[in-house]
Amino acid sequence: MTGVDGEIRRRPTEPMHHPQITTDQKGIPMAGVVTVRLPDGSTKELADGTTALDVAESIGPRLAKAAVAAIVDGAEVDLSTEVPDGSSVAVVTADSDQGRSVIRHSTAHVLAQAVLRLWPGARFAIGPVIEDGFYYDFELPGGAHFSDDDLGRIEVAMREIMEENQPFIRYEHSIEEGLALFEDQPFKREIIEAVEAGANEVDATAAENGGPEVSTYWNSPTFTDLCRGPHVPSTGRLGHFALMRVAGAYWRGDEKRQQLQRIYGTAWESEKALAAHLERLKEAERRDHRKLGAELDLFSFPEEIGSGLAVFHPRGGTIRRLMEDYSRKQHEAAGYEFVYTPHITKAELFETSGHLDFFADGMFPPMELDGGQQYYLKPMNCPFHILIFKSRQRSYRELPIRMFEFGSVYRYEMSGVVHGLTRVRGMTQDDAHIFCTPEQLEGELHTTLNFVLSMLRDFGLNDFFVELSTRPEGKAVGAEEQWDEATEVLRRVAEQMGLETVPDEGGGAFYGPKISVQARDAIGRTHQMSTIQLDYQEPQRFGIEYTGADNSRHRPIMIHRALFGSVERFFAILLEHYAGALPTWLSPEQVVVLPVTDAHQEYAEEVERRLHALGVRVELDTGDEPLKPRIRRAKLTKVPYILVVGADDVAAGTVGVNRRGSNRPDRAVPFESFAEDLITEIADRGSPETPDPGLGDAPGDDPGDDRA
Ligand SMILES: [Zn+2]
Ligand SMILES: [Zn+2]
Repeated sequence: MTGVDGEIRRRPTEPMHHPQITTDQKGIPMAGVVTVRLPDGSTKELADGTTALDVAESIGPRLAKAAVAAIVDGAEVDLSTEVPDGSSVAVVTADSDQGRSVIRHSTAHVLAQAVLRLWPGARFAIGPVIEDGFYYDFELPGGAHFSDDDLGRIEVAMREIMEENQPFIRYEHSIEEGLALFEDQPFKREIIEAVEAGANEVDATAAENGGPEVSTYWNSPTFTDLCRGPHVPSTGRLGHFALMRVAGAYWRGDEKRQQLQRIYGTAWESEKALAAHLERLKEAERRDHRKLGAELDLFSFPEEIGSGLAVFHPRGGTIRRLMEDYSRKQHEAAGYEFVYTPHITKAELFETSGHLDFFADGMFPPMELDGGQQYYLKPMNCPFHILIFKSRQRSYRELPIRMFEFGSVYRYEMSGVVHGLTRVRGMTQDDAHIFCTPEQLEGELHTTLNFVLSMLRDFGLNDFFVELSTRPEGKAVGAEEQWDEATEVLRRVAEQMGLETVPDEGGGAFYGPKISVQARDAIGRTHQMSTIQLDYQEPQRFGIEYTGADNSRHRPIMIHRALFGSVERFFAILLEHYAGALPTWLSPEQVVVLPVTDAHQEYAEEVERRLHALGVRVELDTGDEPLKPRIRRAKLTKVPYILVVGADDVAAGTVGVNRRGSNRPDRAVPFESFAEDLITEIADRGSPETPDPGLGDAPGDDPGDDRA
């Protein structure tokens, strides 16, 4: 034990309970048996005093070796916990989601211990598990900051602690004992005080009975942490981890409180799982749309315009136009009518819609015009479409009315959360509103969901599921029965279509429940894509009506739906899904033609002309440069096809085809056959990359066709 730090060196005062040694309290020797129920429904009889680990061992040594915690009667507990007679016991293994949480959580404690060793006098706050990892927040003495270089030495100290194989021993304390134990740790004391006041904290909860209590875990004479557990039995069970980065964070997320230093880490059940995760991160970084957007000259965020406001360059603009053209064509075919509405409006519109009550935080502040009249940038298009509906009398014969618009909206996102094209302050939605009768609702939802799925498939996203978002507590308008009814309709439609549906409790917008289609991308990440939202409230707020067959007035139901979501975000997701190598139909240039030398220029121009006449987006790179650098340059743009034409091609009317993703050019391909295949590929929304089991694809900077 190094014993360097001066902070927590106190062994806990007399613990109130010792779950590990309760057998002692019952008197020895133990003669009885306990019966436990296993997840498969079978039962086992074991000696009285049996722990969760004993249960695992009785099932098999491999299970015991993989065990990190257990679930006893529904509660997650340490393996050292004694199991009561008649309880049900499930063993949590390291390679399960729950097991990984236990590993990550335990590793976070080791991180805290290492930091307290290296920075005597440091204060530690909270260390929760997050997706794929964990973090821990600290306040360093003298307001010091961690540097990225510190991560290396913290890791070394963590590995020492793991080698020491320190046990995680649980104690329970009264509030007073807890406060005394963490006398020099104000953050821990604040958590304990909150528990006393009845709060359910990240790292500590009040004991279930017998008044407020907190639990701690003792690792060594110099380190105890406040925690609800469970943990691995000892630090020796850990080790497949990496510290990722440091960041600033406010205590309790409150910018008026102390600024803390956060360390992010990841931890896994094996070296292999850790390596796979780090590889996925590298892959995600390689595909980062912000990086690709700059490399491929697609879009940028000029400082002069402001955070979260993108400009699309010509190459990105072409992709975007193709997406929009596709969308317009499909919407036209699906019976939508196109409308256009302005970007700003008087405040009254958003007062009526309720946005100023429920969404004001997400809106840009108002501007004052015309002697004090307030105008807002629109965060949503819906109220405008409602006004179009309302512009004259409507009959049931007109319904459903489907209004479509590429509507640009502006939302105030905190500068900290603005992220590339996925979280922006200005975006364009492929927005539509369907006004229909109650009888038409289910049919419209079916058609819309089918529309969504066929669009996602056309863009190459084939793996999806549906999330059903329900009533947000305290932030919803309208009667609960209407919400329930609307939610039920959405659920039914998703089920009838055989879609995997997961609940998102309380995730609906303030005016109604929604279905969002989530797609898994090429590297297994899920993205929320399209949303279909039901709304009984806005029609009521705006008082819109139609005349029914019975000649009396009725209120239409409104469906809000955006298939791309926002064009910007969909663009970003596509770019990452394809790692910039877009399908041929979406590529800004589909073909680049390179004459080997000046002598072949005329023929190259003819090839260009003929492809252009077929509607292909084609570029000619004559240049004075040799062929190799021109090929390399074209490859960097991820163009689907590079055609190299030399003397033989001029003579035979052929082209040398360098297909993206392949390093083996096809020489002397007759022009007509290349053109025919290309047109088919574009029509099929295909890509040049062909599965080539023998060779695999080997991208890289091999210049491909090396004639020169
Ligand atoms: Zn813990
Ligand atoms: Zn809407």
